Amino acid sequence: MVVTQSIHSDIQEIIITAEEIQKRVAELGKAISMDYEGKDPLLVGVLRGAVVFLADLIRHITIPVSYDFVAISSYGADTKTTGVVRIIKDLDESIQSRHVIIVEDIVDTGLTLNYILKMVKARNPASVRVCALLDKPARRRVPVEIHYLGFTIPDVFVVGYGLDFAQHYRNLPYVGVLRPEIYAGG
Ligand code: 5GP
Repeated sequence: MVVTQSIHSDIQEIIITAEEIQKRVAELGKAISMDYEGKDPLLVGVLRGAVVFLADLIRHITIPVSYDFVAISSYGADTKTTGVVRIIKDLDESIQSRHVIIVEDIVDTGLTLNYILKMVKARNPASVRVCALLDKPARRRVPVEIHYLGFTIPDVFVVGYGLDFAQHYRNLPYVGVLRPEIYAGG
């Protein structure tokens, strides 16, 4: 017996449609292509959430570009207050003298990005900028500059387009809010 259950039926509201995302990602790719002409930038994607965004973004970049990934994990129970995180997958390539663009899915408190920025800057890149799909400024604890931003969203927990709930819903082509009963486990 095959049970078909659509992930779409778990979504209460679509915040940003697939069309809106694709249009904005194309604009960001165009802006990066213009700003980094002749610079061969290195995009650093933050696993796992930024994968979908990065995959679409690079196909709108028309200049030579390469990419690498880091994975960050929470460290201890009080990560949300201390910002203590650890690298569980480091970069494979040296970033010394490279023009680095950190690609993030969402900036919430800013603690994760702040940590990654410090780590990247300590390795003497030629330059560092941040490209984030979503910004949730309501919960910011550390100021971080986002050079290339997709969308600003209100203080709601979103899924889709790389963003998960319990590792699911990353494959939704849009960004949306789950029905409350999903969080409650039912
Ligand atoms: P920050 O360190 O800025 O508080 O957290 C950034 C990380 O928290 C993101 O990379 C993402 O993994 C997670 N996060 C923050 N807000 C949301 C959200 O609304 N939905 C999902 N799925 N993850 C979020």
